[in-house]
Amino acid sequence: TVASGALLRYLYDTQKNSLSNITRIEAYLAGKYMLLDSATRRNLELTETLREKKVHGSLLWVLDKTKTAMGARLLHQFLEQPLIRREDIEARQSAVAQLLSHSVDRDELREYLQPVYDLERLLTKISYGSANPRDVLALRESLKMLRPMKDLLKDFTEDPQLHEIHEDLDDFTDLVSLLDEALTDEPPLAMKEGGIIRSGYIKNLKVKYNNVFGYFFEVTNSFKNLVPPDFERKQTLVGSERYTTPRLKELEDTILNAEDKLNDLEYEAFCGLRDAIGARIAEIQRAARAVALLDVYCSLALVAERNRYVRPSLNDKGVIRITGGRHPVVEQMMQGDFISNDTVLDNKKNSIAVITGPNMAGKSTYMRQVALIVLLSQIGSFVPAESADLCVVDRIFTRVGASDDLGSGQSTFMVEMNEVANILRNATPQSLLILDEIGRGTSTFDGLSIAWAVIEYISNKRFLGAKTLFATHYHELTELEGKMDNVNNYCIAVREKGDDIIFLRKIVKGGADRSYGIQVARLAGIPDMVVDRAKEIVAQLTDNDIIEKIQSIEVHTGEGQARKGKVKHYDDVDLGQMSLFETAQDEDVLKELQEIDISNMTPVDALNTLYRLQSRLKNRWQG
Ligand code: ATP
Repeated sequence: TVASGALLRYLYDTQKNSLSNITRIEAYLAGKYMLLDSATRRNLELTETLREKKVHGSLLWVLDKTKTAMGARLLHQFLEQPLIRREDIEARQSAVAQLLSHSVDRDELREYLQPVYDLERLLTKISYGSANPRDVLALRESLKMLRPMKDLLKDFTEDPQLHEIHEDLDDFTDLVSLLDEALTDEPPLAMKEGGIIRSGYIKNLKVKYNNVFGYFFEVTNSFKNLVPPDFERKQTLVGSERYTTPRLKELEDTILNAEDKLNDLEYEAFCGLRDAIGARIAEIQRAARAVALLDVYCSLALVAERNRYVRPSLNDKGVIRITGGRHPVVEQMMQGDFISNDTVLDNKKNSIAVITGPNMAGKSTYMRQVALIVLLSQIGSFVPAESADLCVVDRIFTRVGASDDLGSGQSTFMVEMNEVANILRNATPQSLLILDEIGRGTSTFDGLSIAWAVIEYISNKRFLGAKTLFATHYHELTELEGKMDNVNNYCIAVREKGDDIIFLRKIVKGGADRSYGIQVARLAGIPDMVVDRAKEIVAQLTDNDIIEKIQSIEVHTGEGQARKGKVKHYDDVDLGQMSLFETAQDEDVLKELQEIDISNMTPVDALNTLYRLQSRLKNRWQG
């Protein structure tokens, strides 16, 4: 509360404006949303493509069939904040399911959504006093659509999410009819040139003159509650009230002959309308949020229908089982030629998949597809597959391809290692890791050794034990399958045809025995002379000695570290309940924590202390 108060104060001081459009503040609960680091967001191309930074080609591009600006914004937010509570995900799924099976109603709802303007932006303008007559007209037209939406949703009240939307779509009939009566059909943009207010509107708000009071406003009783607070009551009649305002008094002496003063009065009346809207800002905002949500659910349902997505079932067993999975974006680009693939990952025998296969075979596409299916599931969407049974993951990490970070002055390899370090430190057994060609940015043996050690670390439950897809060109890594019982080899099948290869795009058990890099180089147009020479060299390099050496490497079990207390124990850790204090030897940290005098600390001190304590714990298990 203190922080939000300070924030509001800051906004107030810097914006110098009323903050009446901020009607509620919601805490960002870390336990409610999946943490997605920026590298992963970029790599998965959630809202824009990696290279061209375009929406076209991103996941958002496939999913966004929203009709309103509010819906589009909310969908964007959904994608960047997937959920991690099973019940939250299932609630969204069931709303999407309803709108999927009632396609006629959904289409009708989408027609009502179509003419709805950006209510949130309009409300901001209203509360800043900057809304012009056309904004008010847009607001009126939008509010008119809420009624039929609400009526239609009456039939869906068994679904909690849709029921809530139904409830939040308030009835604005009185406000709409006030605006209908008051506003001309084509009001100008300018506020002070007249032409805003219908002449008939005088029925409700009249400017009258009599000898006793001079000029005053007269408002019929039915519209009394819309009178702005600064109107001062002068007289009560049977069917109406009479008011004055300081401005009216000022105008009084000049108004008699000046026609342009009429415009000022129109402006006053218009401000009155704005205030009438302003008085209901909280309700309209709630309705705006409901409209956005409805729009997103309709969009997800439509996409599920058009692209043949299925509702994933959710499990608490840490299992990801996908049959006939597809990459949601690549399949749209390919128009029907996409080859689907299966996936099984769990925290037992199938925790790590080492994926080999020639360049261009489809390894990256496959791994991203799994990450995107899991992510789609956790925003409440249906997924591109024949069937899917998915657990909820706490985080998705990706280390994909060489990201150009030349601007930051870091080498490609340094960037890669930084990302890997981040993953190894922050992943938990409930995370999903997508690692593409770790270690390729350095010499073969260094790279291979790093990749090997990383897999050992991830697959070992004493250290991490997270579900991982690991694509590599180091075929030597397929040796790990025989050495660790939760590592499995997969490859993407190709068929050789003479000197050429045909990509089959199917993932199958087993390791690829060769990389076909030279064939792919030929496909890419490298001159025959270079290709032939490369073949000669590779033949000379194939060295049985190395293979034997690799086969004899023993897997590191972590026994020693476990005894020394250097290992973090993740066993039985629940999602979102990671303990800071993982080993018995951290008592001194605990002791310090116990002795801290929190009430005499500044927030910055507290943060620094927390940071220091955490680093000590981290350094400990890293040894
Ligand atoms: P490299 O090892 O060179 O990075 P890769 O194995 O990761 O290559 P991808 O980039 O995933 O290969 O795929 C290459 C191309 O193959 C994609 O751009 C896509 O057009 C096509 N492709 C991949 N998977 C499939 C699939 N399942 N069905 C049809 N086409 C696919």
